[in-house]
Amino acid sequence: MKKRILSALAILAMAANVFAHGDVEIGPNGGRVVDLGDKAPSAEVTLQGSNFVISLYDEGAKKTVPATAQTLSIVHKESGKKLEPKLVDGKWTVAKPDGKEFWLILTLKDDASAKGRTGRLHYDEAVCGDCKSPEWICKCAQQKKAKK
Ligand SMILES: [Zn+2]
Repeated sequence: MKKRILSALAILAMAANVFAHGDVEIGPNGGRVVDLGDKAPSAEVTLQGSNFVISLYDEGAKKTVPATAQTLSIVHKESGKKLEPKLVDGKWTVAKPDGKEFWLILTLKDDASAKGRTGRLHYDEAVCGDCKSPEWICKCAQQKKAKK
């Protein structure tokens, strides 16, 4: 019975995500969830020191899943430069490009021969006046959702 209530809640949470499209979504590690097309998993990007750490996030199951055969490529949009993420222990690490605001284009392939799925991240260090977090991981949308 309890399980059934939980799965009903999961469906409601998923429906809420659809309506909140365009809002910043925060993942289980406190990072930014980047949608990669309409297929799971999404990516969660966190900033750890001077590196971005990118893990795969299963939105249906609400948990981080380790990367295995997937490949990730990241392009810094402003310079057109390709970053070189390194896969260690199921997640990628890459040095954060210089700058307080830029776009990253992430492309995930489920395996080397698969078609890539692409998502964009707007990195912005400006501090949100409401939640005091950097805009790229602004918690306002999530707090609003939690209050409902
Ligand atoms: Zn905010």
